[in-house]
Amino acid sequence: MTQRVNVESDGTGSSIQSLVHHCGVAGIHSKQPLNIPEQLFFPLFALQHRGQESAGIAYRKSGRTVVYRDLGMVSSVLSRYLTETKLSNVGIGHVRYSTRGGNKVENVQPISVVCNKGDVAVAHNGNISNTRRLKAMLFDEGSIFQSSSDTELILHLLSRSRAPSFYEALLETLQLVQGAFSMVFLHDDSLVAVRDPFGFRPLYVGFKEDMTVVASETCALDILKVTEFRSVQPGEVIVVNDDGLHVDFLPAAPSHCQCIFELIYFARPDSQVFDTSVHEARKRMGAALARADAPDGRFGDIVIPVPDSGTSAALGYAEESGLPFDMGLTRNHYAGRSFIMPTSAERELAVRMKLHPVREAIRGKRVILVDDSLVRGTTARILVNLTKEAGAAEVHLRLSSPEIRWPCFFGIDIPTRQELISNHLTPDEIADTVGADSVRFLPLALLRESVDLPDSYCYSCFSGRYPVPVPLTDEELAAASRAETMPAEQPIGRIS
Ligand code: SF4
Repeated sequence: MTQRVNVESDGTGSSIQSLVHHCGVAGIHSKQPLNIPEQLFFPLFALQHRGQESAGIAYRKSGRTVVYRDLGMVSSVLSRYLTETKLSNVGIGHVRYSTRGGNKVENVQPISVVCNKGDVAVAHNGNISNTRRLKAMLFDEGSIFQSSSDTELILHLLSRSRAPSFYEALLETLQLVQGAFSMVFLHDDSLVAVRDPFGFRPLYVGFKEDMTVVASETCALDILKVTEFRSVQPGEVIVVNDDGLHVDFLPAAPSHCQCIFELIYFARPDSQVFDTSVHEARKRMGAALARADAPDGRFGDIVIPVPDSGTSAALGYAEESGLPFDMGLTRNHYAGRSFIMPTSAERELAVRMKLHPVREAIRGKRVILVDDSLVRGTTARILVNLTKEAGAAEVHLRLSSPEIRWPCFFGIDIPTRQELISNHLTPDEIADTVGADSVRFLPLALLRESVDLPDSYCYSCFSGRYPVPVPLTDEELAAASRAETMPAEQPIGRIS
């Protein structure tokens, strides 16, 4: 049966204003015993932007697995455990944003169990797209779930496997689940890192002396001064223990589908993901936006980013166009996530708490305002208004991504199709709605030109063409097959 999934609700009654990623993961194995909580603290702190609602670690201590996890930021959850006196060799960690299952402590990761395969803890970045079917099957057979996260499903499948060892059971389990998974496991005294065969989410492995570190982005390796690293390949399974490092590969996917939004928005600009510098990729996207504007002449006097994620693209736009760049909006880093507020006044206040114009940079200028993406248009309208209030003569909004029209089933929280402004309005109509003098998106073709190996990326939220079956309605599938923006190599999927 075709089922619709509302990817917006986080189960807490809150709604998001922009795209939000779910999680970041890290793991460490060291031949020399270390204070593992302290060593995990730093990469998790570096990955805080990937999830700010809960954090946790699991590590080996005196032959058993210890888990510390709670709701809250890395510093508040883990600070009290940094004075560990028992040294250890291995541990994993997680930061989480709580879309699936809500912001409840039972959903905080790592999830740890003792089962017939040993002590197993797991931390997951991604989204298992066939969760509903697998969970229904397990429920029918009597399984009991303690959380509503799709990650717990993996532990059930592992434990139920008839394979004789943890490792064989893991390989079997990973072939049953579909979708996006960059995961780290702690199995007894081994660290295991896994990236799904499509490669949706990034994962890196680094080496420093006798320490192996795994993390979602390279900024988490940099903080530990790990300079030798590589991307975990799509489908790669890495096991690290006292015997050394062992690598296997899951059966290959028909294509690679690395999330292009990691480069557009999610990852830190000082990171590499998918063997690509995030900052450089964003600059190329901004330069492509400037080239798209060039035939119509100069729109502006100054290029201003919406910080932080619009900054690199705005730099690229300024360099390509020859226009000056300025920080016309400042960001208050102490403001947290912005939720949809019930009234427009409250929504405006929430944006003003986070971003505020520098009048001296803006007054009297025709402003090219560069942001990464447009979701509902609510924030854009407030920002354009703020910029005009600060004295801008004109505001031309430029987005370094194509129009978002489809939900994501691979670990990113995107509002429903009805709420996505690009499903209802043309760029000119959006300009009227948000009060801008013009709005232009980065065309998909130019986005593809901004990255190496463009066919290795996922563009499903622009095209509606998904690489694996997903729960779309018949009408949505029909609309996806008519979409003009779809890359030809991706099939339309339907969940079975
Ligand atoms: S659908 Fe969009 S957000 Fe989701 S993985 Fe693909 S590119 Fe990323």
